[in-house]
Amino acid sequence: MNQFKDYFLSQHAESQNSFQRILSETQNLLSEFYRQQPKVFNGKKAEEIEKEIALLTNSSINGESPSLVLKEIMEKVVSNSIHVTHPGSMAHLHCPTLIPAIAAELIIAVLNQSMDSWDQSTAATYLEEKLVKWLAEKLLLADSADGTFTSGGTQSNYMGLLLARDHFCQSQWNWDVKKLGLPAEAHKLRILCSEKAHFTVSKSASQLGLGEQAVVKIKTDAHMRMCVSTLKKEIQRLKSSGYYPMCIAATCGTTDFGSIDALGELTEAASENGMWLHVDAAYGGALVLSKKHCGKLAGINLADSVTIDFHKMFYQPISCGAFFVKNKSSFQYLSYHADYLNPEEEDLDHLVNKSVQTTRRFDALKLYMSLRIVGERDFSCMIDHTIELAKQTALWLKETSGIEVINSEPELNAIVFRFTDEKDADGLNLHIYKKLLYSGEGLIAKTKINGSQYLKFTLLNPQTTMAEVKLAVESLSQSAKEYKQKEEAL
Ligand SMILES: *Cc1c(COP(=O)(O)O)cnc(C)c1O
Repeated sequence: MNQFKDYFLSQHAESQNSFQRILSETQNLLSEFYRQQPKVFNGKKAEEIEKEIALLTNSSINGESPSLVLKEIMEKVVSNSIHVTHPGSMAHLHCPTLIPAIAAELIIAVLNQSMDSWDQSTAATYLEEKLVKWLAEKLLLADSADGTFTSGGTQSNYMGLLLARDHFCQSQWNWDVKKLGLPAEAHKLRILCSEKAHFTVSKSASQLGLGEQAVVKIKTDAHMRMCVSTLKKEIQRLKSSGYYPMCIAATCGTTDFGSIDALGELTEAASENGMWLHVDAAYGGALVLSKKHCGKLAGINLADSVTIDFHKMFYQPISCGAFFVKNKSSFQYLSYHADYLNPEEEDLDHLVNKSVQTTRRFDALKLYMSLRIVGERDFSCMIDHTIELAKQTALWLKETSGIEVINSEPELNAIVFRFTDEKDADGLNLHIYKKLLYSGEGLIAKTKINGSQYLKFTLLNPQTTMAEVKLAVESLSQSAKEYKQKEEAL
């Protein structure tokens, strides 16, 4: 007797029925929800949503009907969410998800392969390896290159800096950090990145025992790229002051501006100075699929390590990212052997040897299915569309009076701008940002530049057109007008 038949997928009729029922019901509810064209956000205040969620039952003793639970999830969770598929969703690096990838998520969940040891991912191991190899070739990395899927840019950047640190200590001081911990000189190690680099560079440095103090931020030029001459001077200054500059962390697609550091020049600077070059291409790495813009990645193939996210411009469900190294031997700095998992004497592929995670999702499948079903041509078209849209948007904003655009020639699809106001530009921009958010008509982001409040479009969604952009800006303009009138009246 098996009383749990309807909880797990198997040959039994009970199992088959429950699998079909809950999935088709979920699918119908979601389809119906989007058929009703919800706004990008229903505009409820945080307190209100918090309260609704707090009132949900946490668990049940005897189990509840799927329909009842799904109904509540639709009402309290789905309805109160941000809808990234909406073309008015233009805020963060937060993408709509491809339908083939959603189907892949179902297979991933059913198979539940774990990518740590071969005996938990007998086929998945090879599919991930195959896809990693294909991506490495696309990036024009050397034959010695290798990579692994990760949970995203944060983990990939952490891995890049970890390998940079351990490689430097091993090659310069014959010091094995894995065994011995940090050497006495570790507090003099330095990582150089631009002031627009992602915050996870500093966060990783602090987690790696180097402290945030190890990160030297280099000013950016007019195009928000790391200023190479300043970088070179800083490397020399650090060396002559007794510090050890060990890594340049370049950004290919900064989060705010989408700017791309001069990868070729940075490669040279790194190799001249015996430094590791890590390229954070979490955002910009997707250009590898763009026929028109892939040239912007020139030089990435010479990096010692590379971060790419697929849950941004590759339209994958969270989470999905990858980390690549120029020399696969670099992974030695993070491999460990456990007798029960990946014994040293075994020559099977155990991907745990290349990861900071142990149990790990088979995320490669969703990217793989997307690449096959959507095809490279449409990936290229989608990315190109968003970049063209950003270009048009920036031009249009620049010509609109009362608006100041910081990057009027966006490299990718992010644009930072703000409404001008002599009295209180910060107050005005924050106010109109909130008005738009709670109207649910469109969703944009905000950021601070040199301490001042700015607004931001991240036009990742290939379904977004100028119509949605203009609608959002009109709504912002209207709120700005009202705000200024109130200011006058005071
Ligand atoms: C998004 C992003 C990250 C962080 O990646 P997660 O996937 O959110 O962990 C790091 N660097 C850049 C440039 C990013 O855009």
